[in-house]
Amino acid sequence: MSPASTPFTRFQTTLTAVLERLKPSPAERKFLSEPQQILEAKLPLTRDDGSKTEFPAYRVQFNNARGPYKGGIRYHPAADLEEVKALAALMALKTAVVNIPFGGGKGGIQMDPRKLSARELQEVSRAYVRAFQQHLGSDIDVPAPDVNTTADVMAWMRDEYEKQTHTFSPSVITGKPLSYGGSLGRDTATARGGFFILQELIDREALDPQDLKVAIQGFGNAGGTMAHLLHNAGFTVVAISDSQGGIYSADGIDPVRVEKYKRKTGAVAGEYCEGSVCDVQKMNMDGVKHVSNGELLELPCDILIPAALDNVITAENADRIQARTILELANGPTTPEADVILEKKGVRVIPDILANAGGVTVSYFEWVQGRSGEQWTAERVDLELRRIMLDGYKMVRRTAYREKMSYRHAAFAVALRRIIAAMKARGWVNV
Ligand code: GLU
Repeated sequence: MSPASTPFTRFQTTLTAVLERLKPSPAERKFLSEPQQILEAKLPLTRDDGSKTEFPAYRVQFNNARGPYKGGIRYHPAADLEEVKALAALMALKTAVVNIPFGGGKGGIQMDPRKLSARELQEVSRAYVRAFQQHLGSDIDVPAPDVNTTADVMAWMRDEYEKQTHTFSPSVITGKPLSYGGSLGRDTATARGGFFILQELIDREALDPQDLKVAIQGFGNAGGTMAHLLHNAGFTVVAISDSQGGIYSADGIDPVRVEKYKRKTGAVAGEYCEGSVCDVQKMNMDGVKHVSNGELLELPCDILIPAALDNVITAENADRIQARTILELANGPTTPEADVILEKKGVRVIPDILANAGGVTVSYFEWVQGRSGEQWTAERVDLELRRIMLDGYKMVRRTAYREKMSYRHAAFAVALRRIIAAMKARGWVNV
């Protein structure tokens, strides 16, 4: 692995490999390789104790050939410009792979939101909108939640935008609370979209969920919802983790029980461990083992679902992965070097830009509802989400098969061709 690898250089490695096959013109290649616009700001905050501080903030607008920039805002200490650029690029490809009328963008505030009070969090969220307000809008750039940003954050941001612009703008942002312009099904959409793909995949191979063991890294919005969906559909969820580590049981884990303890103790392993001190006797009795996040990836299972942060499946551990299928609910969990190793081993990777596109797809439904004033039923959301996810999946599968590519390269190829077609139609690049 190259030591200088960053989220954005990892994106570029895959991009370069796929462009090799697509043979774009130099102008097309240039558009696809760098963001159209990078916005940066320092957000000032007066802390509760009266002291003053500021946080670096970004909005990267990668490409809007197919529609307004679209993508979440992340609050995380690692959310620097390189990471936000990579995530913005992935959003442009994600919206194209599922063929919804958006481009791609991403935002971030580089900070640890757990160190902020509720008042401070609201203040900094509103400051973000004030900093980038003239570059946002339902026809310009439409943010949404991402790591550590919630429906409440989206509500503050919509409110701030409407105050600043003196407008009624429900579609300026998605992932809002139901009471303030949100859509039914948005909160569970990322997991549900991935679940539809998994169902289709196992149906086609005539597999029975009862025979399939699944390990999930991450118990946030995507990973937590996925654990429930799989458990209820008869899969055996053998491992679950959060940022502090997790638990493994070959016989299966009940996500409802895990959630109860997570709520009570703040940790997925809370039923058995307090910090690093575990009740070994109780664990033995229940047939449960404590696992680190690294160990979870290498457990014996059929399906592995990274649903937390990026860069976790690397050249260092790829060879030890035992799952035959990886469904990427996180953005960027697998490095290009790991991809090569997994492909050689015959592991099928359903890539992030397809597997986790359910979130932005229901964001699109929310945007449509905001513009029309309509409220869709939960059934309609689910039906449309399933159709869009399966159309995307089948297109990628067909491309992978016909052009002898991995699913990741096929997903990139499908998306890049659609973006290139839009750029050509607009006359941005020579026809
Ligand atoms: N943050 C989510 C993603 O990475 C959702 C983005 C959106 O809804 O715009 O796909």
